[in-house]
Amino acid sequence: MPKATPHPRRIFISTALPYANGAFHIGHVMEYIQADIWVRHVRLQLTDADQLFFVGADDTHGAPIMLKAEAEGITPQALVARIAATRPKCLNGFLISFDHWHSTDSPENVELSCDIYKKLKAHGLIYPKTIEQFYDPIKGMFLPDRYIKGECPKCGAKDQYGDACEHCSTVYNATELINPYSTLSGAAPVLKTSEHFFFKLSDPQCLAFLHEWTQHHRLQSEVSNKIREWLGEEGGESRLIDWDISRDAPYFGIEIPDAPGKYFYVWLDAPIGYLASLKARLAQDGVALADFLRDPGIEQYHFIGKDIIYFHTLFWPAMLKFAGEPYHVPDNVFVHGFITFSGEKMSKSRGTGISPELYLDLGLNPEWLRYYLAAKLNDRVEDLDFNPDDFIARVNSDLIGKYINIASRTATFIKKYFNNRLGQHFAALPIAQETLQQANAIAALYDKRQFSAAVRQIMELADKMNAYWDQQAPWTLAKRFDALDDNERAALHDTCSVALEVFRLLTLYLKPILPKLAGEAEHFLSIAPLNWRNAAAALKAGHAINDYAHLMTRIDPKQHIDRLLEAQALPAPAVKSSAAAPAATPSASTSSAQTPAIITIDDFAKVDLRVAQILHAEIVEGSDKLLKLTLDLGEEKPRTVFAGIRSAYAPEQLIGRFTVAIANLAPRKMKFGVSEGMALAASGETPGIYLLQPDNGAQAGMKIK
Ligand SMILES: [Zn+2]
Repeated sequence: MPKATPHPRRIFISTALPYANGAFHIGHVMEYIQADIWVRHVRLQLTDADQLFFVGADDTHGAPIMLKAEAEGITPQALVARIAATRPKCLNGFLISFDHWHSTDSPENVELSCDIYKKLKAHGLIYPKTIEQFYDPIKGMFLPDRYIKGECPKCGAKDQYGDACEHCSTVYNATELINPYSTLSGAAPVLKTSEHFFFKLSDPQCLAFLHEWTQHHRLQSEVSNKIREWLGEEGGESRLIDWDISRDAPYFGIEIPDAPGKYFYVWLDAPIGYLASLKARLAQDGVALADFLRDPGIEQYHFIGKDIIYFHTLFWPAMLKFAGEPYHVPDNVFVHGFITFSGEKMSKSRGTGISPELYLDLGLNPEWLRYYLAAKLNDRVEDLDFNPDDFIARVNSDLIGKYINIASRTATFIKKYFNNRLGQHFAALPIAQETLQQANAIAALYDKRQFSAAVRQIMELADKMNAYWDQQAPWTLAKRFDALDDNERAALHDTCSVALEVFRLLTLYLKPILPKLAGEAEHFLSIAPLNWRNAAAALKAGHAINDYAHLMTRIDPKQHIDRLLEAQALPAPAVKSSAAAPAATPSASTSSAQTPAIITIDDFAKVDLRVAQILHAEIVEGSDKLLKLTLDLGEEKPRTVFAGIRSAYAPEQLIGRFTVAIANLAPRKMKFGVSEGMALAASGETPGIYLLQPDNGAQAGMKIK
């Protein structure tokens, strides 16, 4: 479906940036698949003169990553690099066709963030203001609300966060908490002033621009309604408030020009990361970002989740607008809802959800998930429910039972009776013409991101083809193949051939969703890669195809789904659906890599850690894991402690060594005797156990604090 645009198209598409403190979850993968289907559809329309760049990046800055890295004793850069190394597995695994994946902790992002900031400042939209904020005197840093807890000022519930009470749902300021404490150090925070920088979103020119931007672009109705509300166009006052864009050191981020010790708030440089990723990709072709962006016909789109509409429809367009040349205001922001699991919110901690990594590890076909999500995604800001029974049904009954079935049932005939060559007059048959006529309508549905409607229409066409096949009943002619006259033989040949022509068109229609399968189908049909421009180029009379190879296996509920859900302690698909059946009853979290909750200094003080000297060590008869240690903790009598370190140490290696023990652990009766404490050792995912050892000079009984 070529567009009658006079100039080559220049298109720039991004997905939201994942925060680089953990692996992808299924919500990320859903967004990437949604964007990727759209991108692949657009690519299938482009000519060689057009350009499309689909980019992503890791969102790396901010206090959570700084603190997590600190807790692990590594630099934030090392943490970010470790997470970045996990990205290709999922991106490649789910066939996400990013042209480039970058990082917000990059020279490109520093340059662009500083440039945009300076231009906004020159435009009079940045101003300093002194604010008062909670400060942790032990940790030596200002505290974001999420690191402050205390008693709810309304109901008195203990251990509530600094912004809202989980018990009574009251929303308040952190400064209203009773007996507040820092979750980082346990210290009582103190109020301290600091100069921050603000972006003047309340400026009348911002309001006027955002009003115009909302009118001018075809935003989703849910999104434009939300913006109208924020802009005060629904009768109320404008609720645009100026945006605090700076944070004080220590902070992992980009230092603000001419403001030592002040950093950009992570939400300022995160969306600029889209441009940084594009800049890095363009540099590979020797093209400057400014030159690319200056093209007045450029199209810029962002796929995001509904939780970040505010940032992407107010701050982001306003920043780009008032930074001016060469920046380009987004042409649209495509917002999706969340993904739920059998009607419940996906939650890793409660064990509800699908782990994308596990899905791939278990060898499940990524195109099953792509197809299922496509069959449910639309252009609305709606949540999408992943239901295991529905997943199996859609893939097995629709995708395989309808679409793949056309090729598999036809291929046998074409090979057996016609030596893999097609007939003469099949392309003009009504069923082929009818299928071709839907090309524009289906492309239009993809354009509008109405994927579920497109899939429905494609499956209806597959239904029609299968009905036509059954009505023609080619097997009756085939049964007496050697006795057929020329007309009968041509009719049988054309029935089989037209099925493959329809299969060719359906393959094109599904290609944005199933790129790998489409490639295999193109090979089977022995044709050049399909796109929207060659849709009408039917298979030629007498064309030779390749032998049919199995295109896709069915989902086996036992082998695939039970294992996927079991491994995550999820309920298996219901054998029969019943309204009375309880929803997911997840067991406790199965995630071994989960970070323990933050504790206070008081919690830590409860653990009596002492330097211990190993006076004696011996093998425990009947146990291949344990060693029996006699430890001197500086007390009157040595203690007996059993330690699971036999695989790593011979007893004689240990005698005389110093280590660290918990002195106040409740005595534990074991099969081999009572253990009166615990010796501390480190272990990880790789083999090996490492007993802790204090520095030289430490004496038995010294307290560790
Ligand atoms: Zn409360």
